[in-house]
Amino acid sequence: MRAFRIHNEQDQVGGRLEDIDRPECEEGGVLIRVSHSSINYKDALAATGAAPIIREFPRIGGIDLAGEIAASRDDRFREGDAILVTGYGLGESRDGGYAEYAAVPGDLVVPRPAGLDAAAAMALGTAGFTAALAVQRLQQVDIEPARGKVLVTGASGGVGSLAIDMLAGLGYEVAALTGKAGDAGAVGFLREIGAGEIVDRTALELDGKRPLEKGLWAAAVDGVGGDVLGWLTRTVNPWGAIASYGLAGGVAFRATVMPFIVRGVALLGVDSVQCPMAIRAPLWARLAGDLAPQHLPRIARTVPLDALPQYFDDFLQGSVQGRTVVEIGD
Ligand code: NDP
Repeated sequence: MRAFRIHNEQDQVGGRLEDIDRPECEEGGVLIRVSHSSINYKDALAATGAAPIIREFPRIGGIDLAGEIAASRDDRFREGDAILVTGYGLGESRDGGYAEYAAVPGDLVVPRPAGLDAAAAMALGTAGFTAALAVQRLQQVDIEPARGKVLVTGASGGVGSLAIDMLAGLGYEVAALTGKAGDAGAVGFLREIGAGEIVDRTALELDGKRPLEKGLWAAAVDGVGGDVLGWLTRTVNPWGAIASYGLAGGVAFRATVMPFIVRGVALLGVDSVQCPMAIRAPLWARLAGDLAPQHLPRIARTVPLDALPQYFDDFLQGSVQGRTVVEIGD
């Protein structure tokens, strides 16, 4: 089968397309004929070695996959079933979706909801699932549209753009925090997918010394982390919430307890990788229902597996816009 495998040769991490043997379907597992995968920020880090995502080499990359069951040794799945898998170490600690076939334990497999074809499932992928988790977590702490504006950071990226679309579709007023506020094309894109306001990340004063500043947002969906997350704790309204899922701008952040104990602000973690199946499968059903993005064709582009390596740099440079689907089959 054709696969994009990542190697570590003389401490140099890099991937290439190869023809290798198909994996075996193991007891309790399934063999998947993969038709589509996607590129996430983490895929770019893993494939280039920009961060130590993969510990054992060689490894087939791709943290997402969608396709059909080709063979099953798990009673819950039959040949021909439409499925998807995201996270759970795919493309990190186990071989991932950049290959014509993948063998995984049945416990990792999500039946693809009716109405979600493989290409659409991968236009969502880990990014869409993460955006949906963030929205659901905000809803769980009563962040309703009537509460006011929700700020989405890392707005033009995969998770950010899908979060904007989903929130706008649910009736929220959405503001987009972006490093691309000077780029008319990116601003047009953000407005088209549902952002009512554009906030220029480069113009923010992130080094405020006060523990609390003027409240600006009912809630935030944050993929940047670092100083931006610290600033969010100071500028979210009383009883607001921040769903934190990413680190594109940094890992460490400075904050005080004041937003939490004086304003009742909630800081909610979002982990798409190990999210339990009891939450995962119903949320995928929502992704084909009330959370289905309305601008998916505008947000996602499609690239062939053979062209994969040329796209990773865009992600590392933060210049990417929206989602990238990888077409695996013919
Ligand atoms: P993308 O590369 O698609 O988008 C990231 C966006 O963040 C960019 O488009 C850019 O948006 C912004 N950005 C990039 N670099 C910087 C920087 N140095 N400082 C501030 N902002 C920056 O990535 P994804 O959407 O796939 O992922 C975003 C983040 O979320 C990553 O850190 C990723 O690892 C994490 N993630 C976490 C998940 C989880 O389960 N917790 C799941 C998926 C992703 P703009 O120019 O508009 O500001």
